[in-house]
Amino acid sequence: MPSRTLETTLDHEGFLVRQGRRSGLPVIIAIHSTRLGPAVGGMRIARYDSPADALVDCLRLSRGMTYKAAAVRNGTGGGKTVVPLLPGGPQRLDGQLREALLLDVAELVHDLNGAYYVAPDVGTSSADIQLMRRRTPYVGGYSATADGLGATTFGTAAGVEHAMNATAAHLWGTPQLRGRDVVVIGFGGVGHELTKRLLAQGAHVRATDIDPKRRSAVETSGAQWAELDGAYTLQTDILAPCALGGAFTSELVGSLRCRAIVGSANNQLAHDTVAQDLTQARITWAPDFVANAGGVMYASGLELHQLTPAQSLQRLASIEEATARILEDSANEATTSLAVANRLAENVLTAARAPHPNGNTPSTT
Ligand code: NAD
Repeated sequence: MPSRTLETTLDHEGFLVRQGRRSGLPVIIAIHSTRLGPAVGGMRIARYDSPADALVDCLRLSRGMTYKAAAVRNGTGGGKTVVPLLPGGPQRLDGQLREALLLDVAELVHDLNGAYYVAPDVGTSSADIQLMRRRTPYVGGYSATADGLGATTFGTAAGVEHAMNATAAHLWGTPQLRGRDVVVIGFGGVGHELTKRLLAQGAHVRATDIDPKRRSAVETSGAQWAELDGAYTLQTDILAPCALGGAFTSELVGSLRCRAIVGSANNQLAHDTVAQDLTQARITWAPDFVANAGGVMYASGLELHQLTPAQSLQRLASIEEATARILEDSANEATTSLAVANRLAENVLTAARAPHPNGNTPSTT
């Protein structure tokens, strides 16, 4: 994982760093904000070059969760857990060590008394969260669809589809994706489900993954395999980054041949300034933290707000509305979609901070 500088302000409610008492592994939990509701965010197990990189990533990701939830008015705040796999330490967590770690994290989360709900993320699954649920009720994303897909994966893909529909309407006057060409990069849980949804709409999909073994899954889905080398610069209507973040640099933007970027990866832009590069290149970018909000929306709908699957799915329409508004305001104001999306989230957060007319703190849910 590349080294990152702390681009965000240190405006978190708090964070903790603990050594798991069973696993001995370092665990970082950051709570950025509980202003709009309990902090919700995934548990990431990933390789980092240094503990500092892991801490910075956890702080950034937890802040991103606050903005994501605020932008789509999900009634939750932002938090994150990172378990760094560091040089010299274990590089895979399986069997007893994994179970020990999951119980360690569950215990730490439980001690936070519901201020933070832990959910799946890169390196963890809904099965892991189910195991943690034995230890604490403060978990999210443990539900699955009738065919066994994790609720967050399902919701994220469905939300990206909504963001794509809004982007298509903005660019081509119709939300329909029939006949549109889409390149999906990263054929994991979200990439696969998104591909199925796009094919069902009649889009033409090419997909790729760093893992060549994913080729057969791509072809079985009905999409066409694309080689990863050069995939970002393929000529296409929409590029859908569904692997890891940080892929879009100023340099890459100069070589892109797509009209739009809409995907699930978190922190897609290597730096915020890349948003300006995209605007100048006339490439429409659906801000990642809005486009990929469907997972937390769908799962928290089911698990926190006790909605039915159909009602939870319906909530995801707000991703389409928010994306449409962001792209429209961005075009009208000649500013980046990132700036507009940040402003949208900040307005929601500021409104929640405003003193309530009767002098009480506003409700947090
Ligand atoms: P996943 O681990 O199931 O899939 C990621 C896929 O990307 C894997 O198949 C992996 O081999 C591939 N990959 C990794 N590095 C790559 C690279 N450099 N180039 C091409 N492919 C690469 O993860 P997922 O759940 O499908 O999530 C995908 C992205 O969406 C992640 O960035 C994740 O943070 C983000 N996201 C996921 C959710 C969710 O609920 N699942 C929610 C919000 C955001």
